[in-house]
Amino acid sequence: MREVAKDVFCVGGTDVNWVLVREGSDLTLIDGGWRGDLPAVERSIRALGRRPEDIRAILLTHAHLDHLGALNHFHDRYGTPVYMDPAEVPHARDGRLEQATPLDVARRAWRPAVLAWSARIIRAGALRHTSVPHARPFPADGPLDLPGRPVPVTCHGHTSGHSAYHLPAAGAVATGDALVTGHPLTRRHGPQLLPGFFAHSPDEALAALDVLDGLDADLVLPGHGLPWRGSLAEAVATARERAAGT
Ligand SMILES: [Zn+2]
Repeated sequence: MREVAKDVFCVGGTDVNWVLVREGSDLTLIDGGWRGDLPAVERSIRALGRRPEDIRAILLTHAHLDHLGALNHFHDRYGTPVYMDPAEVPHARDGRLEQATPLDVARRAWRPAVLAWSARIIRAGALRHTSVPHARPFPADGPLDLPGRPVPVTCHGHTSGHSAYHLPAAGAVATGDALVTGHPLTRRHGPQLLPGFFAHSPDEALAALDVLDGLDADLVLPGHGLPWRGSLAEAVATARERAAGT
């Protein structure tokens, strides 16, 4: 776990990240890893001297199994509300996730590192059917009344209801899978889109970079890969160049 900006913590799980934002004794959790990452999510909260009950809400970037693993446990055990883009709510609630399976991925990108990754994510819960029946749309437009005052940023494409979260005071954006900086499948590091077959709509995923481009921030907190420092405009330009194959 790293404190990447004041009161903002980026935590790595099984090839996926989540973000904790602190305000006094309260926390916001952005994304929840795989189901198998649940003990690590709780550990990361306790490492800050807080308890899971101190999470005021979980914000989901998108309903993929590697991001929603902790949600049901937190809701059932601690009553934690879970918010996401209104367009993502139906996917989460009924479990019809717009997600490539490990087998799809292995078929398209076979190499030893991919097989090792597939084995890791299957252990972490990649084959478990999951729905989030208590998923709710954001309670308001604009900044949310939660630690860090996160502002949802609509960037559909990776899924049709994907959202990033701007943390204006920290100058950071939790970009989820709309903009990542690395993945076991890509070999490259730095700002980039995930391979097209991961995206519900690759064209929309590319267009969604326009929205991130305009944000006033100099820290990218991606769903996959390491935190990246630099302007969002620079990160987006790099991702666009890579997507164009230049
Ligand atoms: Zn992901």
